[in-house]
Amino acid sequence: ALILGIESSCDETAAALVDSDRRILAQAIASQEAEHAPYGGVVPEIAARAHAERLVPLIERVLKEAGKTLSDLDGIAATAGPGLIGGVMVGLVTAKALAMAGDLPLLAINHLEGHALSPRLADPALQFPYALLLVSGGHCQILRVDGPGQYRRLATTIDDALGEAFDKTAKILGLGYPGGPAVEKLALAGNPCAVPLPRPLVGSGEMHFSFAGLKSAVLRAVESGQHAPEDIAASFQAAAVDCIIDRTRIALGAMGPVSALVVAGGVAANQTIRAALEDLAANHDLPFTAPPLALCTDNAAMIAWAGVERMEAGFPADPLDVAARPRWPLDPAAEPARGAGV
Ligand code: ATP
Ligand code: MG
Ligand code: FE
Repeated sequence: ALILGIESSCDETAAALVDSDRRILAQAIASQEAEHAPYGGVVPEIAARAHAERLVPLIERVLKEAGKTLSDLDGIAATAGPGLIGGVMVGLVTAKALAMAGDLPLLAINHLEGHALSPRLADPALQFPYALLLVSGGHCQILRVDGPGQYRRLATTIDDALGEAFDKTAKILGLGYPGGPAVEKLALAGNPCAVPLPRPLVGSGEMHFSFAGLKSAVLRAVESGQHAPEDIAASFQAAAVDCIIDRTRIALGAMGPVSALVVAGGVAANQTIRAALEDLAANHDLPFTAPPLALCTDNAAMIAWAGVERMEAGFPADPLDVAARPRWPLDPAAEPARGAGV
């Protein structure tokens, strides 16, 4: 199958063509960093307008680059949530129009399923079930992935997502938006033991995450004027890694046998986090998989790939009146954690 993927749930407008043989025939991505940077975060109204301006030209570009037309496609996959609703609607309505024009199946994709299956796009050897740490701008979850549409969530965050903690730390340190890559870069020059920071819930046996206390401690460390920014960045990252490893170890013990430990989502681009998880996997005699960096942060290839997987697993196409969803948990049966986590 050859699927066109569309992504517009946050601040990247993206289109990609992916086939069942895991080939990315063409992809294009337009980041809105410059538009949102003055505001220190994503402004939903600006994002929706930028998606609307850029998406159709991007789709035309990938089709042209791959030498394909609508009639060569087997389906249109678009993020239908969760995310900023204005942007999601732009992508989904564009997908509906193309599906109608080309008489093609529409695949309404959960953005989180895009992240969750992205490691299989890059790694043909990765088999279900696998343990997934999904760490992104809006989520921090541990799941057992049994197949497309089959997720068991063991842990989520009770306050901030991990990417959010990186972004807030960047903001406190004056590193601008988006913050994760900037914190990682600054941390390279710092001492991870220099600043005593809390590891919320480590050692408590709790499986859920919490990063709000860590963020407050970073703020106090900056305000104290006692520490170099690179030491704060390195110490924050070390604390975050300790939290992740502690919770993932507990979850691995609780989820039953799996074929691999996998990390996905924007924060999976972080090399220190990847290295720590690789060690943890080795201790459990599990292979470790992380997607290439370009597949970690938001992209359309993962949305197209989720479409390929769902189609091949026999999921029916979605009706043309399928709704965009601002919230859409991967595991609807999971109990909400205390606080805001989904
Ligand atoms: P979600 O997928 O939960 O809807 P999102 O789509 O906004 O949220 P992603 O694009 O998957 O999130 O990831 C973006 C997040 O990843 C941001 O918080 C960003 O700071 C973080 N991030 C990106 N690169 C790195 C890195 N190298 N180290 C740490 N964090 C990073
Ligand atoms: Mg982004
Ligand atoms: Fe994302």
